[in-house]
Amino acid sequence: MSTQRECLNCSKQFFGRSDKKFCSVKCKNDYNYEQRKGTKDITKVIDEILHRNRIILATLMGTKRTQMKVSRLELNRMGFKFDFITGTYKNSKKKIYHYVYDYAWMEFSSQEIMIVHSPKYLERFS
Ligand SMILES: [Zn+2]
Repeated sequence: MSTQRECLNCSKQFFGRSDKKFCSVKCKNDYNYEQRKGTKDITKVIDEILHRNRIILATLMGTKRTQMKVSRLELNRMGFKFDFITGTYKNSKKKIYHYVYDYAWMEFSSQEIMIVHSPKYLERFS
């Protein structure tokens, strides 16, 4: 049976058998090459985690919404790593937004996380 899977190399979503790990032969080769190379550069490892975090938030949000609530459990299940962020912002209500590029999350309750998309995020710095 064909199911939706995530490429181990590029994190792209694809359909394939449950034992299929890569979206393409190139990704399989690239991945194995990286594995053979041994320990990856630390910045690359962190970049990948951040990119993955952003993909998770973007996937949950889709293209129509700009904010939504999601359970902490669901984010954990998807492999989201709360410790990896690109910045923080405290709003007037003292809520802390944890940015992952142009997305951000904040604790809504002990079990719920509010996620927001700020396409104009970069304008704050220019
Ligand atoms: Zn791939």
